[in-house]
Amino acid sequence: MTFQTHQFPYGDDNYGLLMHCTESGLTACVDAGDAGATEAALAETGWRLTHIFITHHHGDHTAGLDNLKKSHDASILGPTTDSAVSALYDIRLSDGDEFEFAGRKVAVIATPGHTLDMLNFYIPEEDIVCTGDTLFVMGCGRIFEGDSDMMWASLEKLLALPDHTVIYCSHEYTLANANFARSIDPDNTSLAARQGAVIELRDNDLPTVPTRLDLEKATNPFLRVDNAKIRAHLGMEQASNAEVFAEIRRRKDNF
Ligand code: ZN
Ligand code: FE
Repeated sequence: MTFQTHQFPYGDDNYGLLMHCTESGLTACVDAGDAGATEAALAETGWRLTHIFITHHHGDHTAGLDNLKKSHDASILGPTTDSAVSALYDIRLSDGDEFEFAGRKVAVIATPGHTLDMLNFYIPEEDIVCTGDTLFVMGCGRIFEGDSDMMWASLEKLLALPDHTVIYCSHEYTLANANFARSIDPDNTSLAARQGAVIELRDNDLPTVPTRLDLEKATNPFLRVDNAKIRAHLGMEQASNAEVFAEIRRRKDNF
């Protein structure tokens, strides 16, 4: 076990993530929404911050970046797309880029839709992907800057990853997502069982993140747009996957 992760909550419902290699001593944090929370996580683990991976420009992911940059000699990697915080990035990344962190390849997967600058970070050797506000447990991000075709194309990129990929996302939205998922996919027994499991986790104040791609394929309605029962439920048997996705996203926005 030379690669370790440490997830920590901040804000109303955000999660930050530290990733650490015991051999090289390198430590990356994913996003920087709250410098104090990141500092506390670093103090708790005893790890020294060397890298910051930014998924997208929203304040709950970047508000602490300025302070972290001042107090750590860390390399900040963020999207090429300009934003109010992009001047703080040392290295600018776009879709298909690869870089090395602690001897591991990190593949950059652009997943626009929630925002246009959204990047996800995939580390194949560790079977980890950090999905920011694109893919959530039993849900997906609200579409603010892109459109639903764009968001669906982004989710398809994540669907192509290996089933056992562990998914770290940035928010604990799971209970609300499960409720909505039941309204779209009422006959799915895996979903019903998982809803019970996540209610118990939250009752015990435990995170439902990370998740895994095969679990999401079985229970996340936004990844199940080709499912015959969901299509029948929506009266969209003949529609394209992108159209079914758009309808489910529209319903979630109004749920
Ligand atoms: Zn966001
Ligand atoms: Fe967010």
